[in-house]
Amino acid sequence: RGTGGVMEFKTTCCYCGVGCGIVVQKDRNGKLQVSGDKDHPVNRGMLCSKGMNLHYTVMDQGDRLLYPEMRYNKMGQRQRVSWDSALERTAAVFKTLINKYGPDSVAFYASGQCLTEEYYVLNKLVKGFIGTNNIDTNSRLCMSSAVAAYKMSLGEDSVPVCYDDIELADCLFVTGANPAWCHPIIWRRVEAAKAANPGMKIIVADPRKTQTAAAADLFLQIRPGTDITLNHAIGRVLIETGDIDFDFIKNHTEGFDAYSAKVMERTVEEAAAICDVPAEDIRTAAALIGNAKGFLTMWTMGLNQSVIGVNKNLSLINLNLITGHIGKPGSGPFSLTGQPNAMGGREVGGLANLLPAHRNLANEADRKYVQGFWGGVEIGSKPGYSATEMFQALHDGRLKAIWILCTNPLLSLPDVRFAEEALSRAKFVVVQEISNKPETLRYADVVLPAAAWAEKEGTMTNAERRIAYLNKIVDAPGEALPDAAILCRFARKMGYPGFDYVNPSEIYAEHCRLTEGTSIDISGLNYEKLQAQRSVQWPFPKEETGAGTQRLFTDKQFYTPTKKAIIHPVADQNNSEALSPELPLVLTTGRIRDQWHTMSKTGKVSKLKQHIAQAFLEIHPADAAKRGIGEDQLVVISNGRGEVRVKAKLTDSIKKGVVFLPMHWGKILGNDANRANNVTSALIDPISKEPDFKYAAVQVSPY
Ligand code: SF4
Repeated sequence: RGTGGVMEFKTTCCYCGVGCGIVVQKDRNGKLQVSGDKDHPVNRGMLCSKGMNLHYTVMDQGDRLLYPEMRYNKMGQRQRVSWDSALERTAAVFKTLINKYGPDSVAFYASGQCLTEEYYVLNKLVKGFIGTNNIDTNSRLCMSSAVAAYKMSLGEDSVPVCYDDIELADCLFVTGANPAWCHPIIWRRVEAAKAANPGMKIIVADPRKTQTAAAADLFLQIRPGTDITLNHAIGRVLIETGDIDFDFIKNHTEGFDAYSAKVMERTVEEAAAICDVPAEDIRTAAALIGNAKGFLTMWTMGLNQSVIGVNKNLSLINLNLITGHIGKPGSGPFSLTGQPNAMGGREVGGLANLLPAHRNLANEADRKYVQGFWGGVEIGSKPGYSATEMFQALHDGRLKAIWILCTNPLLSLPDVRFAEEALSRAKFVVVQEISNKPETLRYADVVLPAAAWAEKEGTMTNAERRIAYLNKIVDAPGEALPDAAILCRFARKMGYPGFDYVNPSEIYAEHCRLTEGTSIDISGLNYEKLQAQRSVQWPFPKEETGAGTQRLFTDKQFYTPTKKAIIHPVADQNNSEALSPELPLVLTTGRIRDQWHTMSKTGKVSKLKQHIAQAFLEIHPADAAKRGIGEDQLVVISNGRGEVRVKAKLTDSIKKGVVFLPMHWGKILGNDANRANNVTSALIDPISKEPDFKYAAVQVSPY
């Protein structure tokens, strides 16, 4: 659509899981301008600083990879080659390795920023034709604890709520999340809802007094790792005061008696001492929840990125279940997805332990069904390597080759120096990327240039199950290709059938067909409907004619075999690495407001550096004074894994004994001094395999 030579496109922001609608205007000279889509149900015209500046990232092509490159040995320089040469060599190496060492000797590491179509063909290629489950993504670092907890409590990985529930809730419990910075448009909606309904109560639990916490009616500044104890204590008070939904518990849940016994193991005072918050505040939180007609819990990395991440999630979901606050307006457990399409990736089964459409990898009938649908090789029941396991397997030689696409693991993985060493040991590394900056390129034998946001079409699913269509607006530079096209070309070079799609809509149609009859059935959907409606919420079965399904479990029928939700009586001890006199501080890491992940896009926009221009360490003045550290002084954060050197920022908004590093900065000209993951812990949750980014034992000293 357009007037006066200006073309107008509607699309979706490619950053966070909020999934804001964007209008892009393109003038005669190809210059782009973005604005918020006023008609979009999520953002209603608003955009945060990152979304508002997206056009600069598209128009700044200075760092783009333009041509395939290849080297024939580790000592040689990579040289420009044709697509055919790059993919033929890659196929030849993969075939050789698979013949010699088996299909489990190769792995693919992708991203929650891939489009659904890209995820779909990748999963089909790896599980359906190469014959390994070694496909994982950086969603493992982000959402996998929430995925596991939803499955364990509700029967499937299904976010039951929608953003409209924000305005319908009268009590919000935000824990382990800072949406004011990391999901800003959601937070604008919360602020507006609170302004319209001052009776709405906001409870925030976090070791840092973030901008989100500043808006809370009740702020619980807990010790890192004590979330379960806090949630159990709130549960105990709710039971003791009778502020639970007895009918719902009796008719629609299992496990309450064991849960009740578990939460009674600690008194509120004992729990308060462990969490280091006043016992009275725990009782107040319970009273606010108990009085609510609509109770919404919201969380993200503070619960997910933990060695006990699944249990933290379950302990929170339990609060929704014992109060019956699920499946009704203004209520439910809402995992705020970090990445723009982590949800879409889960729908197509794009993790090492999943199958498409929430089918179960451990279930033979499910495997056979998918195998029959794809017409490929037998799909094995053993989960593949998860993200960190892939790099361990590369390090010890079990894995010979890795294909990394759309992600920057040498900045984002925990204990990242180990990951660097692992990559240096790989026999063969393929990097599929848009930018010439990521550190992974140093290790690449083959580099494949990919198209970026606005240079390709496809779909993504946001945190409220809303599937959106993304337009192609400009051509990709040089010979860069959409990720799905690259993967299909490779599949054909491998000789696999079923990868001759004419366009992404054919891939999407196949994905939709594969969901038919499942809980996430979108068999009624196609590109035409998505282009017409802009976005819909799954499920969207054939008979659906509206905008999809706003809210799940309104009939109180859960996806478990008994149709009842399961209340899990989880243990509350933290299993993070121990503090010691040598390493007495807890390091937690996270995002800042104006940067996204590893800054390969937001780092190009000078305006976005005005908020915070460089990495820093947040430290409490008392901890700083003990160490003789002043404001802006250069400090060293260290442990046995490595060190980080940044300036100190003294603030009493962080809990004593805790320090915070932003996660965005990596190596600059070979110098990794600012890279937070030099010191983060390699421990992972035993169920979700998500790393313990929020708890590493460190020492801090003046440089
Ligand atoms: Fe993009 Fe998220 Fe900002 Fe919306 S809130 S504009 S989706 S980064």
